[in-house]
Amino acid sequence: MSHRPIYLDCHATTPVDERVLAAMLPYFTEKFGNPASISHVYGWEAEAAVKQTRETLAAAINATPEEIVFTSGATEANNLAIKGIAEAYFQKGQHIITVATEHKAVLDPCQYLKTLGFEITILPVQQDGLIDLSQLEKACRPETILVSVMAANNEIGVLQPIADIGKICRDRNIIFHTDAAQAIGKIPLDVQAMNIDLMSLTAHKVYGPKGIGALYVRRRNPRVQLAPQQHGGGHERGMRSGTLYTPQIVGFGKAIELALAEQATETARLTQLRESLWKQLSQIAGIHLNGHPTQRLPGNLNISVEGIDGAALSLGLQPVMAVSSGSACSSAVTAPSYVLTALGNSEQLAYASVRFGIGRFNTSEEIDIVAKHAIATIQSLRKQKTLV
Ligand SMILES: *Cc1c(COP(=O)(O)O)cnc(C)c1O
Repeated sequence: MSHRPIYLDCHATTPVDERVLAAMLPYFTEKFGNPASISHVYGWEAEAAVKQTRETLAAAINATPEEIVFTSGATEANNLAIKGIAEAYFQKGQHIITVATEHKAVLDPCQYLKTLGFEITILPVQQDGLIDLSQLEKACRPETILVSVMAANNEIGVLQPIADIGKICRDRNIIFHTDAAQAIGKIPLDVQAMNIDLMSLTAHKVYGPKGIGALYVRRRNPRVQLAPQQHGGGHERGMRSGTLYTPQIVGFGKAIELALAEQATETARLTQLRESLWKQLSQIAGIHLNGHPTQRLPGNLNISVEGIDGAALSLGLQPVMAVSSGSACSSAVTAPSYVLTALGNSEQLAYASVRFGIGRFNTSEEIDIVAKHAIATIQSLRKQKTLV
């Protein structure tokens, strides 16, 4: 254990909190019933557990329990939201607006809809990663059926002005979807105050299990129609068929409950750790902070370094820290991060970048070790470069 690198990749995933695991365990063996079984206690206790998570999630975002649709994660929730709206509203219009820095689980469904004849506007971002609200206003048309803008970015942690976007959409009767996979449990979210109609959630970025998420679907003012993308037994009010995965749902509820209870203290602690890391790293010449300096997730720091090779940087950091870098292959191909290039970074800066995702189990001692090693790595790479 002690020789494993320090985990600082909390935007990719997080460990399951022991308290979450403890809550889940009885639902694998003892309370294993199908929540859809209505004629015996096995079904009832599973259904009661599912109901409790539905209530926890609804309370977390100021929704009602009937507005929560369980999915396998945020990827599925995004697909259900975007394709489900396109299919239900195509007679009203076929124009969708999204943003260049969205997760692929938003951009790819939009790209797919384009092949079916929908028109997609992809808004650029400013240098700090935020969208320009006047550009959004200009992009809205009578035939616009959906605006999809994420709450918190998974690479640069930038928080979009969700309440302002919600207001713009509501004033024009356009449905507003937000991918809140990185935001839930970390920043306050309120579907009423922010005029959000659809919201994608996932458990594994907040110390819950992988393979469980949810889509919030507004039922009133207005009632949002959604065409199901998976048909079967009619679970989740017909919007997403398939036997509910009770242990994961229990873990999801516990994870959100803990995150909300600890949100204020954790925000303060993580912000301090992030600022300490940046204070140390910013001593180096030619180091840049990617994304807005304060309007970002408390645990996110994303930097680019001038004049060094991204792959060499990534290799140099690896023994000490588990971070994500701009030169990491996102699939099979090595390409610079499209999020960082959307901010106006050169290819070199996009490659020579590091995303630090600080989380619940990181300590200030770890941050100091990481800062020292990162500085030493960058200095040594620069020295090597001047020698050749
Ligand atoms: C992780 C992530 C997703 C994908 O979520 P899964 O639950 O892993 O499918 C989608 N959007 C954002 C912003 C994410 O960070």
